[in-house]
Amino acid sequence: MLKVNNSQALCISTHAMHKRYSYKLPSRCSKYPPPDLFFKKQAITRVVNISQRFSADHSKLSFYSDSPTTKHLKEACNIFGINWDLLKLLSPKYKFGPHLFHPAQRSPLNVSLHFDNFKKVSPSSLLICTDGSKENDRVGSGLVIFKGNDISTPILTKSFGLPSYATVYNGESEVIPLALHEISKIYKSNPFSKAHFYIDNHATLKNLIKPWATKDTNIHRIYSNIQKLPFPITYVPAHQGHLGNEMADKAAKEGLLQPVTLFPKIPTHHFVDLINTSINALTQHRWNSEDHSHWIKRLFPHWKSLQSFLTLSEGLTQVRKLASGFYPLQNYLFQRSLKPNPLCPHCLDEVESIYHRVLTCPLFFSQRVQMLIKLDFSPNTTMEILASNSRNNLEALNTFLISSKLFAQSLSIDGNPSMQLPTRN
Ligand SMILES: [Zn+2]
Repeated sequence: MLKVNNSQALCISTHAMHKRYSYKLPSRCSKYPPPDLFFKKQAITRVVNISQRFSADHSKLSFYSDSPTTKHLKEACNIFGINWDLLKLLSPKYKFGPHLFHPAQRSPLNVSLHFDNFKKVSPSSLLICTDGSKENDRVGSGLVIFKGNDISTPILTKSFGLPSYATVYNGESEVIPLALHEISKIYKSNPFSKAHFYIDNHATLKNLIKPWATKDTNIHRIYSNIQKLPFPITYVPAHQGHLGNEMADKAAKEGLLQPVTLFPKIPTHHFVDLINTSINALTQHRWNSEDHSHWIKRLFPHWKSLQSFLTLSEGLTQVRKLASGFYPLQNYLFQRSLKPNPLCPHCLDEVESIYHRVLTCPLFFSQRVQMLIKLDFSPNTTMEILASNSRNNLEALNTFLISSKLFAQSLSIDGNPSMQLPTRN
């Protein structure tokens, strides 16, 4: 279910690298979360990914209870800058809309994709034009209502701002329920015979033609409301000088500068982006404020070098393990009192360091030749390969690490590399 992307892989790696060091953070970063950041990230990403499919019971359990899980999820949201109440909104408390009806009972709305030059609008009816606009991070909606077919002086013009996560489609469609609300207010004081909507957005019109085929709850809402008030909705070509549409377009552009008053459903990627940005900032902060081993410091002198290595080494688990400094060769195990001596079990000639395994041990001669053919330079140290900034070189090293490991295993029947193994001279 959980998609592991670049920055999650980064977290796994950074987490692994950090395991080695004390978790005691300097006091200046005490406001930063404890090192289970990655697990919190997993939990929240999972909740975000599945919350829209929660049943009412699950939604209650996850969002509305006092359980420790809810408490932890809330806390994690806080760390990643996610508004818990907004996240709650992702999970529908109840379902409505045309898809809940049996297909035979779904009555279609009166939607036309052919512009009629406002011909349907009689003097006693209303003409409603809506439009959306997006510029950079700003999204706006415009609503203009005219009485009769006199489209020189609107009886109502309104502009609305939408949040930065909104799309231009949201700008085009979220304003329609508001328009319905406005015209029902007008009806109370000044009854009209009919109301006609004119919209220039094809996606909205197509969704309104088949409202049961979309997941957009706003379209479901419009469907439910217009069912009760059968208003025709007609296409109007944009930017062709049709005054009503031009005025709605102008109102939508003014909406770009208005405070946010229309809140479309938040897309999950918005939460995922928030999590990723904040994880990035937190891990960078940790990386910069902690001490690293000599090996790590030389390999990754700064955060950017680690980032670029993680991008290049995507999927190359052996290379990442080697880069972390936790590669369980004889010398590494000896230093941790897990082996009686640091000598290479395959040749008994030298200490089995990373350098020995990759560049000198005679047992892995043929695997090494394969690697050297693929490398675009001739390395003096393993670190040179790791720091070469080349996917091709990292792949060659990864293949060597896998094939040498498999070869060593194939020679030790009981998993214990024997000293009686044939060695090459
Ligand atoms: Zn050896």
